[in-house]
Amino acid sequence: MSAGGGSGGSGGSGRDPADGRSVDVAIVGAGIAGASVAYWLTRLDPTLSVAIVERDAGFAQASSQRSASSIRQQFSSPANIRMSQFGLAFLRDAAERLEVDGDRPELGLQTPGYLYLATPPQAAALRAQNAVQRAHGAPIELLAPEAMATRFPWLATADLELGALGEGVEGWFDGPALHAAVLRRARAQGARLVRGEVSGFELAGDGDTRRVNALRLSDGTRIACGHAVIAAGAWSRPVAAQAGIALPVHARRRTVFVFSCPEPLPACPLVIDPTGFWFRPEGRAFIGGTTPEPDEDDLPLEPNLGEFDETLWAAFAHRVPAFEALRIERAWAGYYEMNLWDHNALLGAHPAAANLLFATGFSGHGMQQAPAAGLGVAECVLHGGWRTLDLSDLSVARLAEGRRVLEANVIG
Ligand SMILES: Cc1cc2nc3c(=O)[nH]c(=O)nc-3n(C[C@H](O)[C@H](O)[C@H](O)COP(=O)(O)OP(=O)(O)OC[C@H]3O[C@@H](n4cnc5c(N)ncnc54)[C@H](O)[C@@H]3O)c2cc1C
Repeated sequence: MSAGGGSGGSGGSGRDPADGRSVDVAIVGAGIAGASVAYWLTRLDPTLSVAIVERDAGFAQASSQRSASSIRQQFSSPANIRMSQFGLAFLRDAAERLEVDGDRPELGLQTPGYLYLATPPQAAALRAQNAVQRAHGAPIELLAPEAMATRFPWLATADLELGALGEGVEGWFDGPALHAAVLRRARAQGARLVRGEVSGFELAGDGDTRRVNALRLSDGTRIACGHAVIAAGAWSRPVAAQAGIALPVHARRRTVFVFSCPEPLPACPLVIDPTGFWFRPEGRAFIGGTTPEPDEDDLPLEPNLGEFDETLWAAFAHRVPAFEALRIERAWAGYYEMNLWDHNALLGAHPAAANLLFATGFSGHGMQQAPAAGLGVAECVLHGGWRTLDLSDLSVARLAEGRRVLEANVIG
């Protein structure tokens, strides 16, 4: 796939990075996705001028500040497995990679694993996914109920046939710290953060020659660009619509509950219950959540406390009897940038305009995928195609091709 468009290939174009009004690459959104694209662009080619346009300096609603910040390799599609493996390696090296002026970020990476649980009817699918994961170098262990009961005596296993655990290669980290560190390093490498709201695109040409010439901001500013990247998270659909592109990315609210439990749960991983809810330790407390029903667009970013009493508490206590005595401490809500086409990332150049690229639609796994997505999209800008990682399965062009990524392990 080609990013096409004039300034493809490495080397800056001589546009003036100082005023941010004319740049090689203009990125919409400075969440983890936009920050990561900017980080890789300026790392791979320090002569490039890169502007990241962000409307909210405090990132008050950005998903990158509201995530559960966990990372797994238990996907069923090779592209997603590869991206998370890359993300894990990036997190492990992050202190050196993201150092600025001797200041190294502390991301608190812990890897007790994800524990996917399966009832008898679900066990064959979990085994099949495990075979794919192992074939792609993900050391995920399958556990019989007896083994789980020995390892996790606090877990109720009577209705289970199988568990899959990625100890050592899956876990969680400080997501807001990663976001801040990637953005800071991108700026230290020369990317410019422009405060403003993108309100339009200037497009010219037809068919294969159609391209973006500039972004327009709501205050009237015009930013001419060689390439544009839409990385606007849950707001990517209205931003893409400004370029005449229909993008199936919808803002779907998810509530995360923080709770304490009087009994400790030694070696607790991130547990994915067969019914779909999840929980994991967070310091001395726990966090957890589930997929709401119904799941509507654009709900206000306030936690839905009713979800806990209506469905979660009984489900938690069924799986972990000690949770009978849990106490809710607080809750927060954030948007999944849900790609309703197939619940996977939408990356790379769009067929509607050769120099317009996307890094969005992560559908709940964008923190872990952002390092790989940023590299892939940066390489599409610089080289006109995927290089280090083959992310062609996740190309945004699949929307026009009618192709879907088949990923069985979506945590709704
Ligand atoms: C509750 C919850 C739990 C999650 N758990 C995990 C997890 O465990 N692991 C994981 O990997 N991922 C998880 N995610 C998903 C992850 O947080 C997101 O995929 C990721 O943060 C998306 O980053 P982003 O940069 O695309 O979007 P955002 O962080 O939302 O950033 C988009 C930015 O674009 C800006 N913007 C929008 N429109 C415009 C405009 N017109 N002009 C200028 N700026 C604009 C916004 O202000 C925003 O700052 C979770 C998400 C939620 C909500």
